[in-house]
Amino acid sequence: MFVAAVAWEAGKPLVIEEVEVAPPQKMEVRVKILFTSLCHTDVYFWEAKGQTPLFPRIFGHEAGGIVESVGEGVTDLQPGDHVLPVFTGECKECRHCKSEESNMCDLLRINTDRGVMIGDGKSRFSKDGQPIHSSRLARSLMLAALPRSIQTLVSCGISTGLGATLNVAKPTKAAEGARLAGASRIIGVDLNPSRFEEAKKFGVTEFVNPKDHDKPVQQVLAEMTDGGVDRSVECTGNVNAMISAFECVHDGWGVAVLVGVPNKDDAFKTHPVNVLNERTLKGTFFGNYKPRSDIPSSSRRAGAGEIHHPQSSFRGDQQGF
Ligand SMILES: [Zn+2]
Ligand SMILES: [Zn+2]
Repeated sequence: MFVAAVAWEAGKPLVIEEVEVAPPQKMEVRVKILFTSLCHTDVYFWEAKGQTPLFPRIFGHEAGGIVESVGEGVTDLQPGDHVLPVFTGECKECRHCKSEESNMCDLLRINTDRGVMIGDGKSRFSKDGQPIHSSRLARSLMLAALPRSIQTLVSCGISTGLGATLNVAKPTKAAEGARLAGASRIIGVDLNPSRFEEAKKFGVTEFVNPKDHDKPVQQVLAEMTDGGVDRSVECTGNVNAMISAFECVHDGWGVAVLVGVPNKDDAFKTHPVNVLNERTLKGTFFGNYKPRSDIPSSSRRAGAGEIHHPQSSFRGDQQGF
């Protein structure tokens, strides 16, 4: 028997349950999860607003753990290995994996509506015979020796944000990634002023709260920066924030990178002249990192202290979980 926090219904409190976890099948491993966290994307799917509801479900795609057993054909991992599950994969053989530019693996790329294993289309989790879906893909794992405070974040949040800036918004030197890349001014935009102090530790130098202004935030940013920012990175998934993030970049050279997961029915609307004026709109998935090839080195970077990781001040009991 294993213990899991199960979401039985959209938006309802998670319930700690004893669940069964079937043994790993061919090319799968079973991981004892030691740490997990809920990122914004999990909360989004938990609320199921504008997304396909998939319940019951175990959230926590950001995690760290130890391989407990391996299935047939697994040669690169063994019981006892420290691993991070990642929500996407890298088969190393498809067109995407062979392309230097893409990390959108044909075989193992994310499918948020699936919630089951690729091999046989079944879940490995169940409660009294009822299958439970999962956000994790136990096929995509990599070794990492990291401080505990940062482990789970490397499996999603840190890699996504860092890669969006270092790999996609390049070459100008958005917050932790922008600091590492040497940006001189980093402007954080958030509706929640309590985040501002924390963001300073990640290198954000100035703050804009759209609520403090009567005009659109893209106009505020353009005025602060003599026509627009060089690079912008949008992480919330709110479509209006995405549009602002695009419209706030400077004409001629500005690049906007979208990271956040939008609602199912959202549409991105902007005047074509914003593109014709030589602004670039890009999107990224998992920071453009190939999970098996790239994450071990970026996690070493995190482990070496190059990436700022304050002990989390986030406590589930204070967030109504
Ligand atoms: Zn592939
Ligand atoms: Zn995540």
